[in-house]
Amino acid sequence: MEKMRGDIIENAPLGAQSWFRCGGTADLLFKPADQDDLIAFLKTRDQTVPLTVIGGLANTIVRDGGIRGHCIQLGKSFANVGVLDDVYVEAGCGALNGNVAASAVKAGIGGLEFLSGIPGSVGGALRMNAGAYGAEIKDVLVGARAVTLIGEERRYTAEDLKMTYRHTEPPEDVIFTGAIFKGVDEDYDTVKARITEIKKKRNESQPIKEKTGGSTFANPDPKALRRAGLPEDMRAWQVVEKVGGRGLRVGGAQMSEKHCNFMINTGDATAGELEMLGDTLIRRAEEDLGLTLHWEIKRIGEKA
Ligand SMILES: Cc1cc2nc3c(=O)[nH]c(=O)nc-3n(C[C@H](O)[C@H](O)[C@H](O)COP(=O)(O)OP(=O)(O)OC[C@H]3O[C@@H](n4cnc5c(N)ncnc54)[C@H](O)[C@@H]3O)c2cc1C
Repeated sequence: MEKMRGDIIENAPLGAQSWFRCGGTADLLFKPADQDDLIAFLKTRDQTVPLTVIGGLANTIVRDGGIRGHCIQLGKSFANVGVLDDVYVEAGCGALNGNVAASAVKAGIGGLEFLSGIPGSVGGALRMNAGAYGAEIKDVLVGARAVTLIGEERRYTAEDLKMTYRHTEPPEDVIFTGAIFKGVDEDYDTVKARITEIKKKRNESQPIKEKTGGSTFANPDPKALRRAGLPEDMRAWQVVEKVGGRGLRVGGAQMSEKHCNFMINTGDATAGELEMLGDTLIRRAEEDLGLTLHWEIKRIGEKA
């Protein structure tokens, strides 16, 4: 591993880097210099050591006990964004979603503006089939490049990835390295106006200035809601509200008063408190409503 050209950081403070700004360190973080470096790392590392892939940590709680083994994060060398022609945008998976939206708007490409308000990287957005305001990655993805966990290159079409609500299912475990998106040919002013509108809506409805990780729970499946005798269009925030979750606190962790499906670190929360708050709501939904809520936020690492 000494031959790697990218950065190898021991005891990397990933919790502090996460959007929640709490949690432990990673034993070893590798930030590859480029695709060949990534492949070399994957081929030469001890395969029995656990491997965790992270993006911008905008959707992740890093547990207080930290992450054992190896972590990989794509950095600047995977952050390129380029407009291919009138409607196609290519992006490295280390690029910020916001930069993809900004490049698209500059080129007068519509349809990608939903990415403007989704924090984190293209890799995370692909893995999560991230979406907002009626659009999701699935609608705009043409194809993706990836590397398997043993260092083999792959190319997928959007269909190969079986994207469903906040979920992507590649045929095998991979690190996404690049993506091509297809928008529609529009003019700058129209697309720009929609981005401004999205930003305004977010400011009004979400605690975006807080230390948060976005939606805590995925919206429940209509079938599960029906089985529980609840309205099929009930959203996760309404479930949280119904079980008394708005403003609920565990230590320094709190469900936002502004948007009660957003969990926030009010200042000194531990990752354990954040997770306990989410688990409390899952238990309440189960006991009070007979409904299973599912975490949308990923939890990685070990409890303290
Ligand atoms: C204020 C705020 C608002 C948000 N609003 C939205 C919203 O409207 N819609 C929405 O969908 N999400 C939203 N989120 C959540 C988050 O922005 C998205 O889930 C985003 O896609 C996460 O990207 P990330 O790079 O931070 O991923 P991370 O949190 O680092 O990782 C998330 C998952 O992706 C995997 N992953 C990351 N990179 C790669 C890669 N290169 N290859 C393979 N797997 C990878 C990780 O293993 C993990 O399973 C919001 C978050 C915040 C903080």
